[in-house]
Amino acid sequence: MKVLVIAESNEAGLRPASLRAMACGKLMAAESGGDVHWLVAGHQLDRLAGEASRYAPVLLVDRPELADPLAAPWSAAIAATVAQEGIDLVLAASSSFAKDVLPAVAVKVDGAMIADVTSLKRCDQELEAEVPRFAGSVVTTLRLSCWPAVVTVRPSVFAAAEPLASPAEIQPLELQGVASDPRVTIEQHASRNASRPDVTEASVVISGGRAVESSEDFERLVGGLADALGGATGSSRALVDSGIAPNDMQVGQTGKQVAPHWYIALGISGAVQHLAGMKSSRKIIAINTDRNAPIFDVADYGLTADVYQAVPELIESLKKNSH
Ligand code: FAD
Repeated sequence: MKVLVIAESNEAGLRPASLRAMACGKLMAAESGGDVHWLVAGHQLDRLAGEASRYAPVLLVDRPELADPLAAPWSAAIAATVAQEGIDLVLAASSSFAKDVLPAVAVKVDGAMIADVTSLKRCDQELEAEVPRFAGSVVTTLRLSCWPAVVTVRPSVFAAAEPLASPAEIQPLELQGVASDPRVTIEQHASRNASRPDVTEASVVISGGRAVESSEDFERLVGGLADALGGATGSSRALVDSGIAPNDMQVGQTGKQVAPHWYIALGISGAVQHLAGMKSSRKIIAINTDRNAPIFDVADYGLTADVYQAVPELIESLKKNSH
């Protein structure tokens, strides 16, 4: 099977979520005795292509039309690569970009798509995938027998791909039919405060819940602990709904799916919809005044305490010990 993994990047380079999708791609290629390539597309990509080649061979499509992440030229470029290179399986990490672009790819290659899978394997001539539904309380097994297949994978369930012993080949591609759509243009890029890692990609996530009473307290307690540990900030929906935390920090069924090494829940009760986004974390620590809060059922370590008292002490002690 020929597998193509879409490389997504940010200011820092290759997104960790794409490295996790690559891990899935390598498994699929190894199982079927096939091969796996990155598709590194965009404009002015020398650094990104070099970084990607440390993990797998790269097909490089460098064109000005692909400078912005717009669905029309990107889906055309991916579909043209699939046709030209005889790709059987297109993989990408589940992301806003993939949601926008990959369905159009599936249509253009006359294939079929499964989104947000947590496991993927080949069975005879079909692909078998598991997709969680209803906040993870039901897992659906799907079989797909239509090729090429287009699949997005939930990054939190795969470890990142390991680098190769030496960089792989970078092969530039000339593609036909990659044009921008003049009807859709990007007006403005507004980047979020990038001083902390993204909640979906950090190895430590500190999340605040309703116990946190204001945005200032969120920054002081949740942000302060995140900075002391080099982690990202997350939040329950209660804080997003009350305007204390921004929407893109919400973890859970209707928010982000995370699986860091450490997830620290500050004043979060542990509703099933919140657990759906973080229960795959490797270690969970909870601080809550209610010793019967459901979050303690999934926590590896729990502290029955007031976050307003415990968290400043914790930050202070981490700062002292870092000197
Ligand atoms: P609460 O449930 O109110 O819990 C606050 C906790 O803080 C309590 O356990 C309390 O004991 C503790 N506490 C209070 N004061 C202190 C203190 N000073 N120190 C320490 N502990 C203290 N929620 C999500 O998070 N993510 C989602 O994606 C999501 N999607 C949803 C989708 C649907 C369709 C629905 C219906 C709901 C969804 N929810 C989601 C909401 C979810 O059901 C809960 O309402 C929400 O998670 C509760 O947030 P919380 O734990 O912060 O607040």
